[in-house]
Amino acid sequence: MRELTILGTASQVPTRHRNHNGYQLRWDDEVILFDPGEGTQRQMLMAGLAVTPLTRICITHFHGDHSLGLPGVIQRISLDKVPHPVRVHFPAGGRDYFDRLRHATSFYDVADLLPEPVSDGFRAETTAGTLTALPLRHSIETYGYRLAEPDGRRMVPALLEAYGITGPAVGELQRTGRSGTVTIDDVSAPRPGQRFAFVMDTGLCDNVFALADGADLLVIESTFLAEDAAMAAQVGHLTAGQAASVARQSGVRTLVLTHFSQRYADSTRFLDEARAEFDGDIVLAEDLMRVPVPPRLGSSHERAASARG
Ligand SMILES: [Zn+2]
Ligand SMILES: [Zn+2]
Repeated sequence: MRELTILGTASQVPTRHRNHNGYQLRWDDEVILFDPGEGTQRQMLMAGLAVTPLTRICITHFHGDHSLGLPGVIQRISLDKVPHPVRVHFPAGGRDYFDRLRHATSFYDVADLLPEPVSDGFRAETTAGTLTALPLRHSIETYGYRLAEPDGRRMVPALLEAYGITGPAVGELQRTGRSGTVTIDDVSAPRPGQRFAFVMDTGLCDNVFALADGADLLVIESTFLAEDAAMAAQVGHLTAGQAASVARQSGVRTLVLTHFSQRYADSTRFLDEARAEFDGDIVLAEDLMRVPVPPRLGSSHERAASARG
């Protein structure tokens, strides 16, 4: 299963309806918690999520709305005796902040955490694909993350039948790429890898586009509306229209807007401004919402969906 669970959607201060940030991406066996803001432990409870499946925590930057929930999550990992290591990625220059949050209070500490700070060009191979990080433009050191599954090929039953490939010959083809004169290319089709991108707190810069490129699912900050665009640029944030324009120019499929400023009473205005720039799927994030990674391009599910119109 590949699914995003949204735990919090507020920038700077929580509101009555929006917790500080927090996002869990389940990507098969890889379960990544992004930017646990204050209150994340309780939001996970409300969303029906445990800490035990977590394999990684990714912090974009050490502002409180993205990291003050880390102590609670770490202590819960210890309390629940999570039986495997949890890797934690964060900006390398913020090591002091990480160390303080890691040991924020006294607790019986059996958490098996593996701190792996990121810097420009960071790259790690995971069971879900390649995790990379690129620096963004904000008031402190900030990184966006991207998870990219390698491209592959999938067997096409009709082609297997046409070439008379059955039984053990299918396994032989998968193992060796050939069975007699038939090659794997004859009986399979490209299976594009899926891509996820997470872009928080940044002004517009080239790396926003590099992270978002071809993403099936893009989670991106949308702090401001166009009327405050000048301030957004000055403080290192995006407007809804800019975020949606990134999605359009990057070929994104599903766009998730979040990190809303509490100054706007009506959040549908974010949707209106984004819709003017991007005609793909737009999700205006709400706390405790679940967003599936869209079906793989070229999958039978996706072809059926497009056939329906
Ligand atoms: Zn923020
Ligand atoms: Zn920030």
